[in-house]
Amino acid sequence: MNDGVARFEAAVQAGLDPKNADAVTEAVTTTDCDWVGLVCPQCRHKFRRDDPVKLDVDADGRPTVRHLDPDLGCVNSRALPPTGEAVLRLLAAVRAEDPIDADVRVLRLEPGDELLGDDPRRPCRRCRFPLRPYESVVVCPCGRGCSAAIHYDLDRGLLCYERWKNSLKTAHCLLTKQELGSR
Ligand SMILES: [Zn+2]
Ligand SMILES: [Zn+2]
Ligand SMILES: [Zn+2]
Repeated sequence: MNDGVARFEAAVQAGLDPKNADAVTEAVTTTDCDWVGLVCPQCRHKFRRDDPVKLDVDADGRPTVRHLDPDLGCVNSRALPPTGEAVLRLLAAVRAEDPIDADVRVLRLEPGDELLGDDPRRPCRRCRFPLRPYESVVVCPCGRGCSAAIHYDLDRGLLCYERWKNSLKTAHCLLTKQELGSR
């Protein structure tokens, strides 16, 4: 066993991170773990709470932590991307009811999409976490080319768009906060 893994195990055994008490090579990101809020060296996305991770050591024997989420492809990659169809169906239904939704565009982010950014990664305008490949998002409806985006991903429970919308009387640009007209 090397030092990095030994240190991790010592922290777990000291009771600092009870959720990872049985972790050896795989763990879950918690609010108490060493890497929460740090950036994955592989994909450069920040670790979020509940992200499954792989614990490893690099060539110099330093501990490394990488995502296990196949969508990010840091350790495993996904054979087929998810369909995201549920969100498109739901959106079609709400659109008919609510004019604030009339101009929104939902899309699933493919790897390499410019909305993801590269370095730095571009964040969701509501939760501020960097957007990840295969997440569904709403692109700002302002039509002024701001390209701001916000999560709208039922499969992952990321309802940032719903929360944003419900907090408003009128639609506004996600980037400039400028009003887009009354509801
Ligand atoms: Zn990663
Ligand atoms: Zn979000
Ligand atoms: Zn905008």
